[in-house]
Amino acid sequence: MSVAVGGDERRRRWQEVGRRVLSRSKTMSGPNFTLTSKRDLEFMAELYDHYFFAGQCLKLARHHGMQFRWSKRMTSAGGKTVRMTYQDQKTQKQSIRYEIVLSATLLFQTFSDLKRPIRVTGSLCKNRLQAMQRILEHELIHLVEMLVWQDSCCAAPRFQTIANRLFAHTEHTHDLITQRERAAQKFNVRVGSRVAFQHQGATYRGLVNRITRRATVLVSDPGGQLYDDGQRYRKYYVPVSHLRPAIGA
Ligand SMILES: [Zn+2]
Repeated sequence: MSVAVGGDERRRRWQEVGRRVLSRSKTMSGPNFTLTSKRDLEFMAELYDHYFFAGQCLKLARHHGMQFRWSKRMTSAGGKTVRMTYQDQKTQKQSIRYEIVLSATLLFQTFSDLKRPIRVTGSLCKNRLQAMQRILEHELIHLVEMLVWQDSCCAAPRFQTIANRLFAHTEHTHDLITQRERAAQKFNVRVGSRVAFQHQGATYRGLVNRITRRATVLVSDPGGQLYDDGQRYRKYYVPVSHLRPAIGA
């Protein structure tokens, strides 16, 4: 389905994909775009299909059903590829749909206020466009594997061989900036931190239990839920920027 190309030719095609996405997009203003759309993501995938898969990958996927989406809720994975099967109640016929989702949250909080080198799939990325390309390349290999073998695992040698041959990927991970890192660096808030925050005009104090898109703060409360330390707490979901480190409980 794919033909591997040499380093110079691959770089040329990468640049061509990036250039064409930016010039066609109605939302992306440059390599560190602050806005993008489903259509931009889909167009980028179409260009990859054209330049790297001879137009065969999306054709096959669309024969079943293929959609692209940005997610605000994905806070650790940079992207995901899903194969969904449906069974028609009447005919018992099974149909398959594929979906590629990229994390808008991770992409937009990287190349922002915290500055450090960012690696995705083993290569240093200078901007959001490059990171988006590396993540999409990774997901497209998941898609190809699913189309051919139904299952796909990026920790397995088969995936990594394809990813390396086709896109020169040396890793199957990213180190995009997570909420947890941002909370620690920018607001000095970590899991286990004692914090204070305002809620409906009152000040609450509690303990940070978890950080995803928001921080989960446990506040001591006799009417709350019983936890394994024998205390009762009520849970609050607070944007990290609304927390202040607190002294004492
Ligand atoms: Zn993966």
